[in-house]
Amino acid sequence: MDIDVVNPADGSVLATVPLTSAAQVASLAADAGRVFRSGVWAGLAPRERAAAMLRLAGLMERDADVLARLDSEDAGKPITEAREGDIPGAIESIRWFAEAADKLAGAAPSTAPGVLAYTTREPFGVVAAILPWNYPLAMAAWKIGPALVAGNCLILKPADATPRSVLHVATLALEAGIPAGVLTVATGDGPTTGAALAADPRIGALSFTGSTATGRAILEASARSNLKRVSLEMGGKAPHVVMPDALALGDALIDGITEEAFLTAGQNCTAGSRVLVHESIHDEVVVRLAAAASALVIGDPANAETQVGPVIDDAAADRILVAIASAVERGAVAVAGGREVPVLPRGRYLAPTILAGVDPADPILTTEIFGPVMTVQAFATREEAIAMANAVDYGLHAAVWTQSLDDALALARGIEAGTVSVGAYSEGDMTVPFGGWKQSGFGGAEKSLAAFDQWTRVKTVWIQRP
Ligand code: NAD
Repeated sequence: MDIDVVNPADGSVLATVPLTSAAQVASLAADAGRVFRSGVWAGLAPRERAAAMLRLAGLMERDADVLARLDSEDAGKPITEAREGDIPGAIESIRWFAEAADKLAGAAPSTAPGVLAYTTREPFGVVAAILPWNYPLAMAAWKIGPALVAGNCLILKPADATPRSVLHVATLALEAGIPAGVLTVATGDGPTTGAALAADPRIGALSFTGSTATGRAILEASARSNLKRVSLEMGGKAPHVVMPDALALGDALIDGITEEAFLTAGQNCTAGSRVLVHESIHDEVVVRLAAAASALVIGDPANAETQVGPVIDDAAADRILVAIASAVERGAVAVAGGREVPVLPRGRYLAPTILAGVDPADPILTTEIFGPVMTVQAFATREEAIAMANAVDYGLHAAVWTQSLDDALALARGIEAGTVSVGAYSEGDMTVPFGGWKQSGFGGAEKSLAAFDQWTRVKTVWIQRP
């Protein structure tokens, strides 16, 4: 059976890729195991693996325009976003982890006289990664980098909707001299291909990025099969906390909130979709956010000036429009957007939407909408802001807008999230870990040296004078 890859911009079929069956997953895992045990990759010196990974980064740079087009077409992502954000980020990730290859070290603990103990960080052998559709190559690169550098053989399952950039990178890996079987792509859907990977007894570790519901299913599959190590990066409901002195930050505040919340049409795990504003400046911030959101350019993702493209499919568009309509029915006001915009036939384009005056009991405040929708609520005190920020099951990201060091430190300490940025909406660069708290994830971060915890296991060697 095959899967059609459909362009969300206009509903056209871009390609057809195989749906990898459970039996084929088993055979790919067995092949990867043989490659791992042969030592053609794991047996290299880390610097040699680094050299091959740096060649891969160079080839990705050579093909950057192709990769940007593939991600833009598959995910409906504005081409400028893919060209300037996702693809350079993916290349940087491969390069950063390659450069880290020989910086990974174990330890030699101080034990007792007559004993030498040391620890090493060993690859698992065969590992897997299951990816979401919203950042196809960027998320893949966060996993390919550390998994391969650590010496593993990786089976990567791209999302059903967005396989083509990852397939292209797999061919570049061969061109870079990375042996066949070290990086394998298994295209397919969740129930067949993804579920088979999650249950496969040969796979020692699995890193997942996607929705919280799927993360639960993968964890259960691990528990029922070989207890493979599972790392989960899942959904979010990120707050912005805007303190009373934040207006002085000017455009950095308004543009920082709007551009990020509507990146990839708001289909972003870290989308800052809940804006919490001090009551003294609430009304002014609402007006300014509405103006900025209304000025964003909605259009064909292939156009360089487009800032907001389509949502991924009909089901997503219908779900988002129902959530907006239900919030409005309960008394919310759409101060921007709130409607569908005709751009290309069969594409579903939603105007960036800002809802004010939302009923505090409306589920739109706590569920991940995964679309171009932002809510704005007022708070009176810093303590109330922290309580509101934490009143969701998620804890992936948060941003704090203030000039007060006291407020910045208190909010950074009080907000339950894997990353809190102050004075900007930023996930930081490759040097810092990225991971979720609460139902946004656990089991190891992405980026930075911390990412190797997902892809290596510790061995202790204890040598004692007989
Ligand atoms: P999804 O959970 O529907 O799918 C993700 C992947 O899981 C796909 O490859 C899918 O085929 C696979 N899958 C589905 N069912 C499966 C099963 N039973 N067993 C194994 N695999 C299965 O998510 P999505 O719609 O592709 O992505 C959107 C979600 O991803 C959002 O919730 C978003 O917040 C989250 N996300 C999180 C991060 C992060 O870093 N925390 C980054 C990007 C996206």
